[in-house]
Amino acid sequence: MEISDELRSFEATGVYRLNVTGTSTGAAFLDPVRLLNGSYQRFRIIPSAYYSRSFEPPRQVGDPETEPPEKRRKRKRNQKPKPRGLNAMERIAEARHQEARPLLLSAHESLIKDKYLREHISKMIEGKEHKLDVGSGFENNFVELGTSWRAPFYEITICFRKPHVLGNGEGSFNAQKTSFLIISVEAIDEAEGDFQNRHYILPRGSCFLMSDFKRVRDLIPGSSNQGYNLIVVDPPLENGCVRQKEALCCRYPTLPNKYLLYLPVQELAHPAGALLVLWITNREKLRMFVEKELLPSWGVKDPTVFYWLKVKHDGSLIGDLDLFHHRPYECLLIGYINVNTDAKQGSNFKLLEGTQVIMSVPGAHSRKPPLEKLLSEYIPGPKPPRCIELFARELFPGWTSWGNEPLHFQDSMYFSEK
Ligand code: SAM
Repeated sequence: MEISDELRSFEATGVYRLNVTGTSTGAAFLDPVRLLNGSYQRFRIIPSAYYSRSFEPPRQVGDPETEPPEKRRKRKRNQKPKPRGLNAMERIAEARHQEARPLLLSAHESLIKDKYLREHISKMIEGKEHKLDVGSGFENNFVELGTSWRAPFYEITICFRKPHVLGNGEGSFNAQKTSFLIISVEAIDEAEGDFQNRHYILPRGSCFLMSDFKRVRDLIPGSSNQGYNLIVVDPPLENGCVRQKEALCCRYPTLPNKYLLYLPVQELAHPAGALLVLWITNREKLRMFVEKELLPSWGVKDPTVFYWLKVKHDGSLIGDLDLFHHRPYECLLIGYINVNTDAKQGSNFKLLEGTQVIMSVPGAHSRKPPLEKLLSEYIPGPKPPRCIELFARELFPGWTSWGNEPLHFQDSMYFSEK
């Protein structure tokens, strides 16, 4: 494909595939704002609100007045040279890193060499339209709301455009009051919702359930044919610095790894097959638990590793690739449920072929790029696929989003009207 074709396809899809010379690794650059904008007709995501971290004022490094204590602790830890004597777990982690390193470097080099793409990345975050209240604490704190014993159910008012209104220009809206259970948005375009004095934009065809982990089994479909073909799990994992008491620095509470064994992933999977994507951190103890216990308990064999390599808007990596405790990449383990992976190919989908490197400019803390477009050819079962995200913070058309704050990034402050 000519570079211009690839760019044209990027304009339309938000996915830019790169050729990585000398390896069989696939690489792609994702523009999450472009991908997300495909879900809306009347609104668009404000790039500077999505990339809010790129707009944070530079902090005075080391200044106790301006640098929060958790940042200071993290900075000191990250500045430490690589430990001289690695323990057994760290040696395995280091070996994994050394194995991934050439792939990551080649993928990044292919991005750097592509001047068209680099130009696009630098323009992605242009604009002075950043709304000051992003991350300022004005948003609803869903996690806190969910812990109130006084109000097991909250009320959301949803306005949606009736089908017959389309085309006659009147733009009248119908308001519906409903309690907070599984809500499915079946309007002709995005719906709007009011909740606890904040306004939310809900994409058409999205569905959400806001509840605590204890109620996760409420998601299991009544009939197995309503199971899901793409299951993305992005758990609130503990890591060295993120423990319950320090949860504030990460803006959400974490769950012990063992709890993940209680996620009803097999009961959510479609009988005709499901692609399972699990986001993990680079901690070796977690990786071992996931490979030896968690994935086998979900019926996933031989997962494929994808990497998410984070770049800045000048194309450079967000940090030193070799910094031991703070790699500029995260891993996704991807595998199949209810699919015979020994067969050469799936009936109406491609089997995963090997490691891929996904690159993008990260948004808010822990926000992951949308994956459906990139993975669509690998999803088994009926089309369009039924998709679900566990521990979600946003909504997508055709997806069910579950977690204790699935509306977080649907706050209208992230959007402007077209
Ligand atoms: N995938 C999300 C994104 O791209 O923005 C990030 C998910 S984040 C890693 C984990 C999420 O799990 C947070 O929204 C957190 O509030 C939620 N969470 C933490 N404890 C939970 C619990 N007990 N029940 C349900 N959700 C929980």
